[in-house]
Amino acid sequence: MADDVLDGLELNEQSWWAHDAEVTASGLFTMLRRLPALVRDMLALTWRTSRLDTLVMVGCALISEIFTALGLLATTDVLAQLFSAVPTTESMVAAVPGVAAVVGAAVLRSAFSEAGTWARNRLDPLLTQAVHTRLVELTTAVELAAFDDPDFHDQVERAGMLSYRGPSMLLWAVVQTLSGFIGLLAVSGALGVLHPILLPLILLSAVPSTWASVRSARVGYRATAGIAAAHRRQSVLQDLMTDRRAAAEIRSYTMRPYLLAQFGRIYRWVTAYELRSVRKQQLTGLWGDAFGGLASGVVYAALAALLWTGEVRLAVAATAVLAIQRAGSATSQALYGVNRAYEAGLYYEDFVRFCAEAEARAEVSGGTAPPSDLDRIMVDGVDFSYPGANEPALTGVSIRIEPGEIVALVGENGSGKTTLSKIIAGLYLPTSGDITWGGVDQRAIDRDALRERVAVIAQDFNHWPFTAGQNIAIGRHDSAEPLGPVLAASGADKVVDRLPYGLDTMLDPSYKGGTELSGGQWQRVAVARGLYRDAPLLICDEPTASLDARSEHAIFEGIRRHAVQRTVLMITHRLASVRWATRIYVLENGKIAEEGDHASLMARGGIYAEMFTLQARAYTEGGYPSK
Ligand code: ADP
Repeated sequence: MADDVLDGLELNEQSWWAHDAEVTASGLFTMLRRLPALVRDMLALTWRTSRLDTLVMVGCALISEIFTALGLLATTDVLAQLFSAVPTTESMVAAVPGVAAVVGAAVLRSAFSEAGTWARNRLDPLLTQAVHTRLVELTTAVELAAFDDPDFHDQVERAGMLSYRGPSMLLWAVVQTLSGFIGLLAVSGALGVLHPILLPLILLSAVPSTWASVRSARVGYRATAGIAAAHRRQSVLQDLMTDRRAAAEIRSYTMRPYLLAQFGRIYRWVTAYELRSVRKQQLTGLWGDAFGGLASGVVYAALAALLWTGEVRLAVAATAVLAIQRAGSATSQALYGVNRAYEAGLYYEDFVRFCAEAEARAEVSGGTAPPSDLDRIMVDGVDFSYPGANEPALTGVSIRIEPGEIVALVGENGSGKTTLSKIIAGLYLPTSGDITWGGVDQRAIDRDALRERVAVIAQDFNHWPFTAGQNIAIGRHDSAEPLGPVLAASGADKVVDRLPYGLDTMLDPSYKGGTELSGGQWQRVAVARGLYRDAPLLICDEPTASLDARSEHAIFEGIRRHAVQRTVLMITHRLASVRWATRIYVLENGKIAEEGDHASLMARGGIYAEMFTLQARAYTEGGYPSK
């Protein structure tokens, strides 16, 4: 329906739309069938979050409705006294206990209702905290491969965006529904006592507002669901236009008019859609009011007839008028509750589904501790495919890494080097094939314990919005080991020396006192981070890609010195840096094409020799400008 708006946008449209289609297809009755299970789930969550507040909220809301009914009954007594004859001092005095009961009931009703609202207001942030915490606990525990699956991404996004509203909204909706029904029951009970005919009359008066409220809520919900995808696009564009990282490119590529036009187009569409539903809701409300007025007229006429024929006394009729009003509000409360429960159910279902999916995708970990000394790592016939990929990233890869060796992976972009290193680091599980650490199957080893033994200097390392010190000590924040040696080995000491607050400088200029580093400076911080982990296996994936020649040399020297007691798996395009590797594996299209040390690979005259000669020629035959 909004395809015209979304045409030409670079974002993944299908996943965004899939949910909305599904949501709008979840009709009221489908949701009502699923609600009991969702409500049970939500109550368990609420109960776990705060028993006292749950009890107070539900209990008080229900008790306050009972006081409404008692108040109505007391009102009849008072009116009976007052309307019995010409008011006298005696009749006024006789009415005092009744008035006291009415006032008492009203005070207690308000007190309980306020206590319920107070508990609800306490529960709200507690539930939001519980949901958000659960979301991050689950997302950080799934297999890394889940993040390459668009379906999972979509679920994370939906759960993150809307789910936090689900539980408290659903709880409140359930309480509203129950309160409404109890209120209606209580009023009905009171009216039954007064005169049985009054009950059907009141139900009749509630029909038009019922219809209007259901229809209006549906229209409102459809409007929300209908614009959800466009809304998300709009906020993505807005985020891009306010994002620090995007700011430079928006300017240098003069993207402003394009982005503003896209933004304006979506906004116009969203607003037009909203205005249409507002009109529909308004019309529904008008019809509801008109028929509601008619129905009330019928009820009052019937009441007048009952009075005329002497079927009811004047006092009862007066109470009935109050009861009609109360019944009307109880009915709309119950209906509003049902509608809200329907809407909240949709959001909450997102959360419940996400939890189930994330639990199913949780990392599996063996219980065996990794060998204490890093022994030989054998990769044997490993295949790996990314979720949804047509081609495998690795096919039948076998390599070995002996303790103390420096092993290099080289090959063209996309040949599978990073993927292989991530599998060895225990980040991805191979689709088939085996990896053993000192003869122990990697699958049997505790994943976190294994990762403690590996330091990865990744190509796409994170620029954490923390201080320089925290950026280096990541994963070892409690360690008392000084940072000095790794700062020197990585060359990060020169970076830190120039920072206004040294290691305490925040490395994000969007924070007060924060600053930004250049690509090469960041890379030194990332190398320092890897070295500080002090793990027996160091994996370096293009550690010097953004560095100038001198810094590159210094870093390789630093890593080499650091690696004396350690094993290193090195991925780099700078073949001059892998000359000193014990063994070099050349990958091509996810397969090992060549293997050997520098001399033997050069002698072989294959891919490696060709790549090396090309690079060497670039330096020696004017490939780069000489100084
Ligand atoms: P290299 O490190 O040699 O440049 P990679 O291991 O990064 O190569 O990539 C190997 C292949 O896997 C490439 O075809 C790449 O497109 C694909 N690939 C890499 N990462 C992902 C991912 N997260 N999801 C899907 N495919 C990926």
